Amino acid sequence: MSENQSFHMTPEDFRRYGRAVVDWIADYYERVESLPVLSQVAPGEIRASLPPQPPVHGEPFDAILQDVEDLILPGITHWQSPSFFAFFPANVSGPSVLGELLSAGLGVQGMLWATSPACTELETHLLDWLVDMLDLPAGFKSTSAGGGVIQDSASSGSLCALLAARERATNYASNERGCDGRLVAYSSTQTHSSIEKAVKIAGLGRDNLRLIEVDDAFAMRPDALARQIERDRQAGLMPCFVCATVGTTSSNAIDPLPEIGSLCRAEGLWLHVDAAMCGTAALCPEFRAIHDGLELADSYCFNPHKWMFTNFDCDCFYVADRAALIHTLSILPEYLRNQATESGAVFDYRDWQIPLGRRFRSLKLWFVIRHYGIEGLRHHVRRHVALAQEFAAWVEADDRFELAAPAPLNLVCFRHRGGEAVNQAILDRLNRSGDLYLTHTRLNDQLTLRLCVGQTHTESRHVAQAWQRITHAAAGLSELGTKR
Ligand code: PLP
Repeated sequence: MSENQSFHMTPEDFRRYGRAVVDWIADYYERVESLPVLSQVAPGEIRASLPPQPPVHGEPFDAILQDVEDLILPGITHWQSPSFFAFFPANVSGPSVLGELLSAGLGVQGMLWATSPACTELETHLLDWLVDMLDLPAGFKSTSAGGGVIQDSASSGSLCALLAARERATNYASNERGCDGRLVAYSSTQTHSSIEKAVKIAGLGRDNLRLIEVDDAFAMRPDALARQIERDRQAGLMPCFVCATVGTTSSNAIDPLPEIGSLCRAEGLWLHVDAAMCGTAALCPEFRAIHDGLELADSYCFNPHKWMFTNFDCDCFYVADRAALIHTLSILPEYLRNQATESGAVFDYRDWQIPLGRRFRSLKLWFVIRHYGIEGLRHHVRRHVALAQEFAAWVEADDRFELAAPAPLNLVCFRHRGGEAVNQAILDRLNRSGDLYLTHTRLNDQLTLRLCVGQTHTESRHVAQAWQRITHAAAGLSELGTKR
């Protein structure tokens, strides 16, 4: 092997294969509707098809791409299928994927302003744009005492919020000496599990997370929250953090922010608002009531990587007081010192997140916002909500089925009146068929089916087909029993 020999891909090959990959993705989007939505492979099947040893010598790119088709595709659950109605969506779009590609190509590591000023400044600018686009409180803008940053996930955003709350409550002493077991956090029984994880990571201890009961619409009860805070204070504990949700994962319940926010202000607690999926709805003025009371929050997040046509990962996280967040997470070893940081004139986003390194995520978001424009985004969000509402009306009109929760936006929770076994059988039949993908939850301790409309290319016909398949799957199942 000569010293000058190179195994790198040449620019010519990169161009050629780059085109092949983009073609592959475009073809995939054209045929995704014909593929089984939920991957039908058995555990271990994909691994068994892979060579036991890595290649000693490099392989032709064509062969690698062919293996994506032959070996990987069968093990893909098609989140980009228009008949994907499970969980919450993780929708993508052409401009987002191309922005991601450019970001990978530039290979920027944006931990400091100085390591790529555009990476930081585009992000700051877009997060300010989004404050206007969603009509969020002005205090979240970088031009105020607050500001926004892109996190990898809502889970990371919530963890950062909890850490800042912990530090604020202890006058920044927990960072130095650890927690003493007295700090208490609050969420509802319906809050996403990422809060439980954050409480464990932040050292509060799971026993110090209070799950507050909810009302008939599965929203947190402020009176129960107030009582629990009072009990904890009487027990000598230190309440410090509340997480309210705009659009819970199980049922899209919207916690009453004005009441919870006023209580947090009166009690000096940090209020974090998690609007992971539903925040996107606020693009449309007619849905903005979901954010009533948000001006009382200390932090907020929503995920363009769920419902705003921006591929994972992209969570927009805002704080009203960036100094509290930066004070909590800031580190400055000698090797990161630089003039721009010392000048105080720049944001170094490594101080706003858990990891040091960070990707150029704002590029894909910029592409999406510029491609669609505000009106384009609104159009598709409105369409998804309208389709979900149409579906909810079909459920209500069919006396074999019932709605299991209010459906304020794009998620419909419903069940067959035949009971637990019937609903389980419907779910299994549908998901085994590959025609569509639904997931479930438990509401009032009853198995509940969820249909969430949010995939980029879902149209009226896909939702109509889903309803037809659901009713078809239900036919003849009623004798399975009435155990609820
Ligand atoms: N919060 C809510 C309400 C969610 O529904 C989810 C995921 O579905 C999350 C947080 C976690 O999101 P991420 O995967 O971005 O951490």
